[in-house]
Amino acid sequence: MRAADVIVVGGGIGGCALAYHLCGRGRSAIVLERRGVGDEGSGRNAGGVRQQARHPAELPLAMAAIERWPRLERELGAPTEYVQRGNLLIAQSDASVARLEQRLAWQAPFGLDSELIDGAQLRRLLPLAGPRARAALHCASDGHANPLLTTIAFAAAARRRGARIETGAEVRALEQTAAGWRAVTDRGRYEGEVVVNVAGAGAAALGRLVDRSLPIVGARTQTLVTERAAPLFDQFVQDWDAKLFARQTVSGNVIFGDLTEDYLLAGRQARPADAVRAARAAVDALPPLADLEVIRAWGGTLDISLDRMPLIGPLDGLPGHFVSAGSSGHGFALAPVVGELLADWIVAGRRSPLLAPFDPARFSATGTVDNNAEQAA
Ligand SMILES: Cc1cc2nc3c(=O)[nH]c(=O)nc-3n(C[C@H](O)[C@H](O)[C@H](O)COP(=O)(O)OP(=O)(O)OC[C@H]3O[C@@H](n4cnc5c(N)ncnc54)[C@H](O)[C@@H]3O)c2cc1C
Repeated sequence: MRAADVIVVGGGIGGCALAYHLCGRGRSAIVLERRGVGDEGSGRNAGGVRQQARHPAELPLAMAAIERWPRLERELGAPTEYVQRGNLLIAQSDASVARLEQRLAWQAPFGLDSELIDGAQLRRLLPLAGPRARAALHCASDGHANPLLTTIAFAAAARRRGARIETGAEVRALEQTAAGWRAVTDRGRYEGEVVVNVAGAGAAALGRLVDRSLPIVGARTQTLVTERAAPLFDQFVQDWDAKLFARQTVSGNVIFGDLTEDYLLAGRQARPADAVRAARAAVDALPPLADLEVIRAWGGTLDISLDRMPLIGPLDGLPGHFVSAGSSGHGFALAPVVGELLADWIVAGRRSPLLAPFDPARFSATGTVDNNAEQAA
């Protein structure tokens, strides 16, 4: 049996960032990961680091995250490939233009550097944009990063601070003890005063181990990677009508995928039907991509909550049991700030106002909120 102050279940960016910040505050942490570090959403996501068009309840947290991203690489001592070259949310249809206008109104009180631009302005920023693009929301302080490298960087930095990260350790039972919690895995038992469920799309299954139903489901999306190309664009691009996300990495590969969420099929493998849909979306929104060779593809599972916002905080009736999951396609960008604020909460017992909207109790029997108005990725 091994013990630490805090047992973190999930070795994605959320769990590794939390362990890093806990250890920085003098607490010991063990991360239990059933596969490898970053093997699920954290290593497979689009890498968008975006503030604009976030729900007003989430925007302050996203803005706080952006303050941390530029210094992360130096702080963690490892590459993240973060580039702060803007985010473009493209609209082709009247309905999507109206949605962009709604997002602009949402974010107006927050002073975000985001503006609505027309097709001509868009083409000056993104000459690749297809003929159907009519308008876009542009936020210059948004950007993108390499998800797997960033997750590995957090894991390595957490280890340097003394965190223990156990891979191949699936938590199969969670038991309350006199001092806190015991996590039972195939590789042994681990005890801590506090346990934190940072299990991504596995968070609901983990919740069931303690008789709690967390309203989080997995949704699969597909990503493709092209050969390396000369610099084509440097923003993170999303087209709501083509249902496309795309970014070009610092190595020149274009990573793109389909924003369609499949709630029935889980899986990390690539599926030809999804690959064709993603390729069509790319050619529709960014036609010059048609000339690039696709060299790789993968599936990834989003952890989507009922109101498409994260659940962060303690679970009612379970002292010392926290959850941080359900970030619904936003968790990569948010992880640096969520890890820090959640560590503060666990160590000092004070919740940051930035985390107040994400209380898991909003889904309790006393009522739910419905902010079902956000787009993943
Ligand atoms: C295709 C795609 C595109 C995305 N694009 C973006 C984007 O552009 N920007 C953005 O901010 N976010 C994006 N996301 C979302 C982002 O990937 C997630 O929000 C983020 O990675 C969540 O990190 P996490 O550490 O909480 O969860 P995960 O990375 O899912 O990690 C959870 C870990 O818990 C482990 N686990 C589960 N159950 C158990 C158990 N019982 N015992 C032990 N371990 C367990 C899993 O193996 C997994 O490694 C995207 C996601 C996908 C799939």
